[in-house]
Amino acid sequence: MQSVSVEAAEQPVLRPVYSIVAPVFNEEETLPHFYKRIITIMEQITEPFELLLINDGSRDASLQIMQNLHEHDPRVRVIDFSRNFGHQVAISAGLDYAQGDAVIILDADLQDPPEVIPELIARWKDGAEVVYAQRSKRLGETGFKLLTAKLFYRLVERITSIDIPRDTGDFRLLDRQVVETLVKMREQHRFMRGLSAWVGFRQEAVSYERQERLAGTTKYPLYKMIRFSLDAITGFSHVPLQLATTFGFLLAGASLIGIVIAVFLRLFTGAIVGQASTLILVLFLGGIQLIFLGILGEYLGRIYDEVRARPLYIVRKVLE
Ligand code: UDP
Ligand code: MG
Repeated sequence: MQSVSVEAAEQPVLRPVYSIVAPVFNEEETLPHFYKRIITIMEQITEPFELLLINDGSRDASLQIMQNLHEHDPRVRVIDFSRNFGHQVAISAGLDYAQGDAVIILDADLQDPPEVIPELIARWKDGAEVVYAQRSKRLGETGFKLLTAKLFYRLVERITSIDIPRDTGDFRLLDRQVVETLVKMREQHRFMRGLSAWVGFRQEAVSYERQERLAGTTKYPLYKMIRFSLDAITGFSHVPLQLATTFGFLLAGASLIGIVIAVFLRLFTGAIVGQASTLILVLFLGGIQLIFLGILGEYLGRIYDEVRARPLYIVRKVLE
């Protein structure tokens, strides 16, 4: 009898204290290593946890590997999307399904070292509600990525009204209360690190060195990075829309000066401002107008997406 009750106590506890959420898109090479590193770290913490893997429409053997992990380890749960919905949406699904009191989000490519997790947890236990991991160094990134990332964070800082901490990715710990708040926000174009700053609560930073990707290549080609930046900016700022007004005033002012100069030249030197300058001005103004139409389009398209209110993602199956 005694031994039975001991065994029952050793059964995995159903409700985990920690949920580790990792989005996965074609990560067949990294997944087994990722699993091992996570398990090693989390078993040292001794409290129950779950590892929630979101398969974001992988086309390689990732799903197979996740299925295997799930069959051998009941702490692994898998959410399988019907197609690729994107990194930020995959994270959101992770928050929807997570059961833990604290949710830790990190990439599956081991660029966010799991060894930082105990530090995130320590801060949480001291009362922090959002503990974000801030990169002190980025290893193995191209000069181009470093430069664009730097420019991006500085631009976002300048033109948005909220305080999105510099050089942070999605690697962070969120308290249950923060998760509940984020889960209620169903906007389509999601910039999760912005949203998790926007909600407030007690936010703290832990610094770490971002590692090189273990294997495989980045799933963020340039066009995705551009869309991602646009989501960040349109999601948290109206400055691009307001720029049209500023430009309008500046150009109207400049044209007044231009008129005075043209009249002056005509009266006192007889010179006529020629065809070339007219052409240049027309093209210049046309260009500016098209740019602002494009900016309007960015916002308009997003409004349209919100109005249609399609689901954020579609799940094919859940391995509980
Ligand atoms: N990812 C995803 N869906 C995507 C693109 C990426 O789930 O459409 C995952 C990817 O598997 C990885 C994480 O998001 O776990 C970060 O992607 P990646 O490492 O390619 O981005 P980078 O670190 O190069 O910015
Ligand atoms: Mg990566």
